[in-house]
Amino acid sequence: MSEGWSATVLTLFPEMFPGPLGVSLAGRALEAGIWRLEAVDIRSFATDRHRSVDDTPAGGGPGMVMRADVVAAAVDAVHGQGDARPLIYLSPRGRPLTQQRVRELAEGPGVTLLCGRFEGLDQRVIEARNMEEVSLGDFVLSGGEPAALALLDAVIRLLPGVMGKDASGEEESFESWLLEYPHYTRPQEFEGRGIPPVLTSGDHKKVKEWRRARAEETTRERRPDLWEKFLRERS
Ligand code: SAH
Repeated sequence: MSEGWSATVLTLFPEMFPGPLGVSLAGRALEAGIWRLEAVDIRSFATDRHRSVDDTPAGGGPGMVMRADVVAAAVDAVHGQGDARPLIYLSPRGRPLTQQRVRELAEGPGVTLLCGRFEGLDQRVIEARNMEEVSLGDFVLSGGEPAALALLDAVIRLLPGVMGKDASGEEESFESWLLEYPHYTRPQEFEGRGIPPVLTSGDHKKVKEWRRARAEETTRERRPDLWEKFLRERS
């Protein structure tokens, strides 16, 4: 196996990759070989003369459905039986993506991502290839590509050598079921608003306590669902 965390993306729009992942943190890491990206055009696995990848839904109704046979051929060409990487289908019906799953993916060898279009995939290929279904959230995108880009962005920043300070991933939102504390920087005063004095006191213990209290307060107010998890985890 060659070096680096490796992502294979199956898509009808390979030109969308690396897209935003070609710049800044992820782009530099890509150039440095910390991760690798292969975008594969699902359409090149179509077999009929119209190169069709979709067809009308069984049972009727609006839209089109991606064909099981074409998607299976594409998956099998890039993701063999011995592939240790998870095979993920981005789908609004999937399990919502969490920082915990992102971290697990970053610790593994890579990922194969399948981007849907139209109304989605024929259910049989999802089952036959034992795909993990992952959702970006409770809203509907026109395709899996933005979800794949977001998932990869979240993973790549955690890969060793990508973020400046190794520790900077650990105190962030969700790492302990808490949202992060608020940040401040120069200028000292902005439109009449100062910086909380404790942050400029030089007392590291006080700063830590203040940040922890703000994190708990914000989580309790904004995300009762996370707050519940935090309380359960702590007890
Ligand atoms: N008819 C489907 C939506 C299809 S949207 C439904 O109601 O569930 C087309 C494609 O966009 C999907 O196949 C999926 O790959 C992608 N997609 C849409 N919303 C998404 C989300 N919230 N998370 C991840 N992928 C999503």
